[in-house]
Amino acid sequence: MTQHRAAIEAGDLERHVALDVEFHVLLREAAGNQLLAEMLDSIRSVVQLAIRTASLRMGPGHLALAEHEDIVAAIQAGDPSAAETHARHHIAGMRQTLHEQIDPDAAHSTAVLA
Ligand SMILES: [Zn+2]
Repeated sequence: MTQHRAAIEAGDLERHVALDVEFHVLLREAAGNQLLAEMLDSIRSVVQLAIRTASLRMGPGHLALAEHEDIVAAIQAGDPSAAETHARHHIAGMRQTLHEQIDPDAAHSTAVLA
């Protein structure tokens, strides 16, 4: 997380994307769900592209990092429902950004979780 902050502050997009993806990988490994880990691994390049696209649109990843910190804080506090809320918010924000990228008119539509 310290490395991630340093990369963002240095404006290093490549490293920000790599470390953001790494955070997601570590989190899913910590979750210990092998099947889920394999499923997510199969879409890893898509996630990477999504993070890159969102970062280019939104600028350096301060927001993403803050959201990662919220997720970790909730896990450390032993609060799984808060962790889930923060994680869903993180993914929904990304999704909204990507929708706006594709269709600027969708900027004011509400992100809906599947
Ligand atoms: Zn992330």
